[in-house]
Amino acid sequence: MKVLKFGGTSVGSAERIKHVAGLVKARGRNIVVLSAMAGTTNTLVEIADYLSKRNVPGAQETLNNLNIRYNSVVDELFDEPGLHNQATAIIDERFSYIRALIRGEYSLAVSKEILAQGELISTALMNIYLNGHGVKSVLLPALDYMRTDANGEPDMKYVATRLLRLLDLNRDADVFITQGYICLNSTGDVDNLKRGGSDYSASIIGAVVDAEEIEIWTDIDGMHNNDPRFVDNTSPVGELNFEEAAELAYFGAKILHPNCVLPAKLANIPVRLLNTLDPHAKGTVIYNMPPDGKIKAVAAKDNVTAIKIKSGRMLLAYGFLHKVFETFEKHQTSIDMMATSEVGVTVTIDDESHLAALVDDLKNFGTVTVDREMVIICVVGDLEWHNCGFAAQAVEALRDIPVRMISYGGSNYNVSMVIRSCDKLEALKRLSEALFN
Ligand code: ASP
Ligand code: MG
Repeated sequence: MKVLKFGGTSVGSAERIKHVAGLVKARGRNIVVLSAMAGTTNTLVEIADYLSKRNVPGAQETLNNLNIRYNSVVDELFDEPGLHNQATAIIDERFSYIRALIRGEYSLAVSKEILAQGELISTALMNIYLNGHGVKSVLLPALDYMRTDANGEPDMKYVATRLLRLLDLNRDADVFITQGYICLNSTGDVDNLKRGGSDYSASIIGAVVDAEEIEIWTDIDGMHNNDPRFVDNTSPVGELNFEEAAELAYFGAKILHPNCVLPAKLANIPVRLLNTLDPHAKGTVIYNMPPDGKIKAVAAKDNVTAIKIKSGRMLLAYGFLHKVFETFEKHQTSIDMMATSEVGVTVTIDDESHLAALVDDLKNFGTVTVDREMVIICVVGDLEWHNCGFAAQAVEALRDIPVRMISYGGSNYNVSMVIRSCDKLEALKRLSEALFN
């Protein structure tokens, strides 16, 4: 059994839902995890936001527009009157429920209930569609088995007990449909696994049922070896290990958040990224693969700021870095990359919201220099230091580009370089030429 997760754009219209239903049918007896239709969760967030501001008309108007959109999805999806009626009943029920919540007293718990409706609707529609087209599909209500503990972590034992029982009760099902993202929390209230959380749901479910594989279906054919928006001739990376995937995740590469795939990684279940628009493309498989001595991909992170703190006091002293890091903690700013010398340290940040106060404080420890409009260029692969020449190839490719800092050896999987934003395009192209072409 596999877990197949389809994201919001994959089920973003009646046409796409039909297409996904075809894919689901063809792939056999699996658990299918769905996101809300594209844009829905954002709209529900907007509604909750209006409510938190006590703007009931704002919430109602936004909800009415969403309701209209869903009515037309239902019209397009179901010609057959019986199915159309079933789907309409679900839409009416869900929207009446939200309307009642809007009329009631606002609380955080109410907003979580509102956010949960998108997945409840998308899965109900898919379930009706499949059953109407010859597939014995069974809905597994996520709120009956998905739950987080007091630390907000998935309660794996609870999930396993509940989910395995549900599967057992439905042995004759052709396929199972369930909601991503939504769960109960430790107090038993409706909650969610945070934005983008349906990947996390898929990973948790995969681990619990010991799935053969977890397929994450989106609208690109896997992870590319460089950013196709800036570089021609990029190609999908066939395989990555979880560590390489985690390095790339920071760079906004269209890849899964490392936390989301942790259950899959620990349970040793491969995660395959596939393209709904091109189902036969190979995609990318992420698994606990052995080191293969290859460079896999290049990625860039924009809007990086480098901060250098230089001080004679750092030389041969202890506790200097501690004070510096403590200052970053105090100003709630996370450090991404760092390089040190005996008398100074440079770190990068990607969130400048506390920059002024942070720099002001850092001046207590040394001379502070700030370089803005920088980017991190990251080369990811099996860069274990015994492999000769990889670091050299990466640096060599950038021989004519000023490099502000280099970080290598923090993990076996990346070498990162900070350069000016204006040099990014050239750097990405040169790296692609040097490493992949
Ligand atoms: N619908 C949720 C969101 O948009 C969860 C997901 O799609 O992964 O964040
Ligand atoms: Mg997503």
